Amino acid sequence: MTLMNGSEYIDSLRKRGPLNVFLLGEKIENPVDHPIIRASINSVALTYDLAHDDAHREIMTAESVITGNTINRFCHLHQSTEDLQNKVKMQRVLGQKSGTCFQRCVGMDALNAVFLTTYEIDEIHGTDYHQRFLEYIKLTEKHDWTIDGCMTDPKGDRGKRPSEQQDPDVYVHVVKRSDEGVVIRGAKAHQTGAVNSHEHLIMPTLAMRNEDKDFTICCAVPADAKGITYYYGRQSCDLRRLDESAMGDIDCGNPAYGGQECLVVFDDVFVPHERIFMNGETEFCGRLVDTFAAYHRQSYGGCKVGVGDVLIGAAATIAEYNGVAGASHIRDKLTEMTHLNETLYSCGIACSAAGNKTAAGNYLVDILLANICKQNVTRFPYEISRLLQDIAGGLFVTCPSAKEMENPETRKVIEKYLSGSDAGTTEERIKMLRLIENLTMGRAAVGYLTESMHGAGSPQAQRIMINRLSDIDEKKKLAKKLARIPE
Ligand code: SF4
Ligand code: FE
Repeated sequence: MTLMNGSEYIDSLRKRGPLNVFLLGEKIENPVDHPIIRASINSVALTYDLAHDDAHREIMTAESVITGNTINRFCHLHQSTEDLQNKVKMQRVLGQKSGTCFQRCVGMDALNAVFLTTYEIDEIHGTDYHQRFLEYIKLTEKHDWTIDGCMTDPKGDRGKRPSEQQDPDVYVHVVKRSDEGVVIRGAKAHQTGAVNSHEHLIMPTLAMRNEDKDFTICCAVPADAKGITYYYGRQSCDLRRLDESAMGDIDCGNPAYGGQECLVVFDDVFVPHERIFMNGETEFCGRLVDTFAAYHRQSYGGCKVGVGDVLIGAAATIAEYNGVAGASHIRDKLTEMTHLNETLYSCGIACSAAGNKTAAGNYLVDILLANICKQNVTRFPYEISRLLQDIAGGLFVTCPSAKEMENPETRKVIEKYLSGSDAGTTEERIKMLRLIENLTMGRAAVGYLTESMHGAGSPQAQRIMINRLSDIDEKKKLAKKLARIPE
């Protein structure tokens, strides 16, 4: 099976062994059909369905460099700057269609970063990580896996190195070594789509020193491996998905799709040799982290732009329902939202177009421009959301629940007082307001705002990279030359 569709993907999740998932105080026996989890699965399923959709097949698929087969782009090693741009375009389309985080990008970004880093490690150390990883990629392509790219450790006391922590488990580390492999312990936080994945590709979270060798581990384990427990992230308005009233979907805002964040605990999980791709080569942690982060910072110039398109569409629609679509300040605000959103897209395309071939053969984005992209993403979606809330008016937080629409008595009153222009019915106006609530304060706000701030690294992480790559000395020379000041 090289190219699954959405329902085959969902079936493949059912075929995994039992997972230990805790959500709202309960151990969830069947995560696939849980209403809160299912919405997040639907978002990932879109990445499979669109690969079979004539309108999107070209952007959603690629030719495997290993087998020549047609594969899903999420399993692909980028072979050109055009591939890098197509990745961003694909993410924009998925953001537009899901209105949230579709989760599968982290694995794609990890595949490309581990691919190039293992090659570089082998060149120096004479190890065989790259060949092992190639075998792993073959399986990824063959099974069309969704991979959880596992990077962020909980980190404990941020002022201390991994090896200095009072409890070393706050960083994933090797606790046992044998001829067969290693045993790892620790946790990864903020794991996007972890429960919806087939595999976890674990990477170190920061540049390590010699004393941090046990923490320098890159490896893969199946999602149902013995010893893994998932603590499902509680998110704003999640209980609305449990509402079984006939019109309950209205209150969800975006009933079909959602994102997912988890704390994943690895409690003595065995990793066989063939799934280990870095083991103690501390000097390569920085390279792996920087390249993974760059790929993922590029990703945000696609996915958040697609969701931004939905926000702009919601702003224009609610303005019509409110009867103010013709007002010049509304048109100006829509223009500003578009300007901000397309600036983010420009950054995503630019860091892709300026990408380069790596020694391993895949393409890497321009790291400075990818960091500029993500730095803008930590800001512009907040302004786009502010403008959307401005245009929407305050009704999206004072609007009565869908249950009031089910009761004919109360519905009459709501229809009378919450009606707007002839452009939409009262129910349509409420649906749009709930979508706006979802995008800017509800579940999708996790994907659109909090992820924009902290996903792929918080703003300061990008500023460190921008500072490192900005080559101020060269710029000083330019200024001095024009001012005729000798060096
Ligand atoms: Fe993909 Fe965006 Fe979600 Fe990251 S935040 S996994 S790039 S959709
Ligand atoms: Fe993310």
